[in-house]
Amino acid sequence: MAQGRKGKLNYRCPRCLMREIDMDMLFDSAKGEYYCLRCSFVGPESEVQRLNAQFRAKYLDRTVRITDF
Ligand SMILES: [Zn+2]
Repeated sequence: MAQGRKGKLNYRCPRCLMREIDMDMLFDSAKGEYYCLRCSFVGPESEVQRLNAQFRAKYLDRTVRITDF
């Protein structure tokens, strides 16, 4: 197994985050990708940031009381 190292920034796994699981990812410097030990997620920093933005969008209305359906 490749030696995993923490990246410059410590990202959470976006796929685990979607399942309400808080899991740090390791950085594969040979491939320049982050990967998760818990699920099979592998991706570059840009992909991680894109998914994190998606995750934030999901909870964008969390402070708004929704009365109309
Ligand atoms: Zn994961």
